[in-house]
Formats: sequence, structure tokens, C-alpha cells
Amino acid sequence: MSIPENLAAILARIAAARKAAINPAPATHLVAVSKTISEAGIRQALAAGQRRFGENRVQEAAAKYPALKADYPDLELHLIGPLQTNKVKEAMSLFDVIETLDRVKLADALATERNKGAKCPRLFIQVNTGEEAQKAGVLPADLDALIAHARALALPVEGLMCIPPLDDDAAPHFAFLLKRARDLGLSQLSMGMSGDFELAIRFGATHVRVGTAIFGARDYATTTASPG
Ligand SMILES: *Cc1c(COP(=O)(O)O)cnc(C)c1O
Repeated sequence: MSIPENLAAILARIAAARKAAINPAPATHLVAVSKTISEAGIRQALAAGQRRFGENRVQEAAAKYPALKADYPDLELHLIGPLQTNKVKEAMSLFDVIETLDRVKLADALATERNKGAKCPRLFIQVNTGEEAQKAGVLPADLDALIAHARALALPVEGLMCIPPLDDDAAPHFAFLLKRARDLGLSQLSMGMSGDFELAIRFGATHVRVGTAIFGARDYATTTASPG
């Protein structure tokens, strides 16, 4: 299957899952995850009409996306990987949405650059719902404090994001994220990947992040390289 065919199939599955859901979000957007995918591959998706993309490394996005954004001004780029504070300035100039705000220090760094005149991307807070030691994301117990801190800095926090543990049933993680977003008055929920986006839609996902099902399998070595 080609990239345009895969895209069409995923969009049809999103529409069907929304139809079957009892209480879907008002809209569910597809974030096409293009990490490790060449500019040529991304251009095939753009030509087919896809406009939202996700990258997990600042450096890789900086190499691929300025040219693409120049050609497609309505392209919306999401950062879905961990962000180091020394890359905040570059990330703010490149991304439209940062989905991985997960600590006070990062919120402070974003506010500092914003105060110097940078436009702050829309922000989602990544929650480590599985409380995995090796995974990024704020622990559930620390979420309220981080939100309060970000709101005190007037940062544009719009939603929550999670990556459930690989071997877990994702449903309780999605249910938890939905409940916390409602409690906190946040409208956006980024959850669900190639293997479970239909389940996430049942729990109210506004953004699903799909890579492999659109672009094909990635080279393992490149996806496990250090973040950045
Ligand atoms: C790679 C990645 C995805 C996409 O995963 P697929 O299984 O290829 O759809 C989604 N979210 C994050 C945070 C990722 O790093």
C-alpha cells in the first residue's frame, strides 16, 4: 500500500471509530508521525492532503520541516518526544504544538523565551500514566502542581498526552487521561497510536498519533537514538 492509500485507510478508520463511539470528542485529528521518514515521504502525505505531523526529535524536525512549512504554510507540526531545556528556543520556533511539557523547569524555560518575545506553541502536558521509570511525562501525583505552575506563568496549556506502557491494556490509561483532562478543564487529549487509536477515540481522543500504519515500519536503530 502507498502512503496516500494508507492515509485514506486510517482516516476512514478514524471516522468509523468516531461513529461507533458513544461519546467521541467533537473532532479527532490525525497527527501523522514522520520520525525517520524522509522529506520525500512526508511530501507524499502533504500532496494527499495531510497537514498535521509529529516528530520526536528537535534536530530531525529542524532538518526536514522548514522547507516543508515554506511550501505548506498551513502545516501544523507537533513535538511528541522529550524536550531538553537547551533546545527550547529552537523548538518554539519550529513547532506549533509541544505535546511533551512534563516538568516545572521546562515550563519556566518556555515562559522565559516567551517573555523575551518568542511565540509560545500550544502546549499539552505529557502524563506518565504507567509511572514507568524510564519514560518521560509528569507523574499523575504531580500533574495538578505542574498545571497550576504553567497556568500561573500564563502558558497556553490546552491538553494532556500519554503513551501507555507497551504491555498494558491501554484502556485504563486512556480513561484516566480523559478524567484528568475533564477535571482540569483541558479540551485536548492526545492518545492512541497505530495499534490502539480506535480504542483511544472511544475514550475521547482529540488527536491520535499514527506513524507505522501510514509510513510503514521504521528502522529500529534510528528510533531508539537519544532524544533531542
Ligand atoms: C513513534 C510515536 C508514535 C507513533 O507510533 P506508531 O506505532 O508508529 O503509530 C506515537 N507517539 C509517539 C510519542 C511516538 O514516539
